[in-house]
Amino acid sequence: MNEKDIENMIEKKNLILIGPPGSGKGTFTQELKQFHYESISTGNLLRENLAANSFIGQECKDFINSGKLVPDKLIFKLIHEKIKRTLREKTPFVLDGFPQSIIQYHYLLRLLEKEDMKGRCCFLEFIIDDEKAINQMISRLFCLKCHQIYNNVTCPPLKRNTCDKCQCKLVRRSTDNRDDAIKRLKVYRKETKPILALAKKNFEILKINSNFGYNVQLYINFIFHILCTSNNNPENYYDKI
Ligand code: AMP
Repeated sequence: MNEKDIENMIEKKNLILIGPPGSGKGTFTQELKQFHYESISTGNLLRENLAANSFIGQECKDFINSGKLVPDKLIFKLIHEKIKRTLREKTPFVLDGFPQSIIQYHYLLRLLEKEDMKGRCCFLEFIIDDEKAINQMISRLFCLKCHQIYNNVTCPPLKRNTCDKCQCKLVRRSTDNRDDAIKRLKVYRKETKPILALAKKNFEILKINSNFGYNVQLYINFIFHILCTSNNNPENYYDKI
């Protein structure tokens, strides 16, 4: 059986990604597009608002530039309609960068319960050592147009500073320097990681170890395998990878 067969066979679960910055969530989300997942990335949506200088863009600028979380109210404004529409349309989706606070988690949980979608969602926890995450952050590049992510060391574009996919100019984020990366890792530990203890009570949580640089395709196979196996035990699969 190949991936295509599996993809057609299963009712895809919606994926909620949690992990420190630099742990590969964005790259993973990009790869899932080939399986027709709708990606909802709060980071990308915020950057689009910044570029457009919208009301949300103006309000979130200082928070993003200082590596802090944007206030929950602004994040809800940013994604409420998008998540509701995606839930109603029953498009499989991947949430990258949301939730990042306990309040955001409760908001999402309520929304999923209201739409009777809780059972169709699963958390993926990305694990990476701090030093590796910092190295990822300080050498990464982004395409502002198609959101493809590159890394000057491990995954450089074919042509310097140019996106392989859409030929647009690649940019570095202003917060992708060592000091800001350390700050953001602290914010993750304080504000976001505690979500996992709560999520455990309501959702299946699969772990992805990004420490050794991962073959995205392998992990996608792994996830589809798990999601279409009724009697699965994530920990066992995790050990085999
Ligand atoms: P990311 O692209 O996920 O690394 O996010 C970049 C920045 O956007 C973060 O450092 C935060 O300032 C902000 N941000 C993204 N998602 C959220 C969220 N769910 N809650 C609060 N702030 C967020």
